[in-house]
Amino acid sequence: MVQERRPGRSCAVPARVGDMAKKKGQRDYVVMQCSVCGHRNYRTPKQLRGTAKLELRKYCKWCRMHQVHKERKK
Ligand SMILES: [Zn+2]
Repeated sequence: MVQERRPGRSCAVPARVGDMAKKKGQRDYVVMQCSVCGHRNYRTPKQLRGTAKLELRKYCKWCRMHQVHKERKK
């Protein structure tokens, strides 16, 4: 006997991606933009502690060196 194979979804199919994007409250985050080349390389949650503007020295893969990254709202 030949078992009937349904061309449907097998258990190997991953669940839908994107279900984790629940919008519970606004998460405040900022994008760190390289001040030299302008690429946005990092994203960091904003800490609301009266910080005016964030400036971090981070590695920029486009400049291939550490550059000052400035806060930039999306
Ligand atoms: Zn850069």
